Amino acid sequence: MKITRIQTFLMHAGAPLSATGTKEGAAASVATATGLPLGDTRHWLFVKVHTDAGIVGLGEGSGWPLVVEAAVRDLAPTLIGENAADIERLWQKMFLAMAGHGQTGVVGAGAITAIEMALWDIKGKALGTPVWNLLGGKVRDRIRVYAHASSPEQAKACVALGYRAIKTGGVIDPVGKIAAIRDAVGQDVDLMVDLHGPPGLQTKDALLIGRALEPYRLLFWEEPVPAENIDGLRRLRDAVAIPLASGERLATIFAFRDLLREPVVDVIQPDTGRCGGISQLRKIGAMAEAEHVGVAPHSGSLGPVAEMAAIHVLATLPNALIMEQFAVDWPGRFRVTPGAVRPENGHLIVPDTPGLGIELVEEEVASNPPTRNSGIRATAKSNSYEEGTYAEHALVQTRFRRARTLT
Ligand SMILES: [Mg+2]
Repeated sequence: MKITRIQTFLMHAGAPLSATGTKEGAAASVATATGLPLGDTRHWLFVKVHTDAGIVGLGEGSGWPLVVEAAVRDLAPTLIGENAADIERLWQKMFLAMAGHGQTGVVGAGAITAIEMALWDIKGKALGTPVWNLLGGKVRDRIRVYAHASSPEQAKACVALGYRAIKTGGVIDPVGKIAAIRDAVGQDVDLMVDLHGPPGLQTKDALLIGRALEPYRLLFWEEPVPAENIDGLRRLRDAVAIPLASGERLATIFAFRDLLREPVVDVIQPDTGRCGGISQLRKIGAMAEAEHVGVAPHSGSLGPVAEMAAIHVLATLPNALIMEQFAVDWPGRFRVTPGAVRPENGHLIVPDTPGLGIELVEEEVASNPPTRNSGIRATAKSNSYEEGTYAEHALVQTRFRRARTLT
């Protein structure tokens, strides 16, 4: 079964809605990491791998989709004529092909991920079995998911939709937000906080926030310091009684080793679209299992195909904790991939269809052409970040008005 052709499909995807149905809530809470509302920059990149047997595999790559598309096109000729069943060997071939480019972190890994995911889809379709069955079989039939909320009203709306786990985020008054949400939803809902690890957030700032968050018994506290600040994570691990989470910006087993060899976190958050692929995610999960660390994949702006890949892998991981999801995503999601799994009572049901169990409607992709895929918003007048908003530079957010911000 030889690979004959690799196609890419890049599209603009709309912003998710908040649980209360407004555009601002969930999109704004996600925007803290980049400054721009997610709806302005969110893109999905899908890949189709064709074979001479007529079987076509579908994959998705995140990690800057606009650039990942170019990487997939550049890698494609090295795969034409290869046996689509040789997934591990082809992963190694693609990784080696990127050695000359420095292997390129999540962008290169996003390209490898998209192609490798499609190879698993092909193998499952060829054998008539779901991908989870190829990975060793299920340990669960449904995956618990969490939603986002930035206010008590949104949190209550998430609970009304069936969610029992909610995350809020940002470095502006996270303690006040979580206190109000805990008050609104009670003790039976798991809560999480994501500080998005902005560059200016120093360990002592985070320590102050963490001590104030301790009474709320969070499920985890995400990126309390920048992801690269391993020493900071270590200090927080030892000083604050909240499970720590990180890893959405990392790719491959080699990067996750830095988080796991001690370990410095309690939960790892590989992004299914850019961590290196299904087999890398399975290996990263096993590394975490050996350290008694949970796996809670990052979703963020992720599309429906990579989410489906996450469902298949999490179905097989004994240490899968929970998965990120938008409670009410952009409605176009289900036009692009009608087979995308819809949450039921805060869970995603593991599918039994062969391969990944999801197909692409190419006409819908074409009707949402790509636009701008990155950026930080600046005011037109001064060309500076807007004070007091999500667009303000993260360093300023945490260094000034410290008494008000870090309460
Ligand atoms: Mg995050």
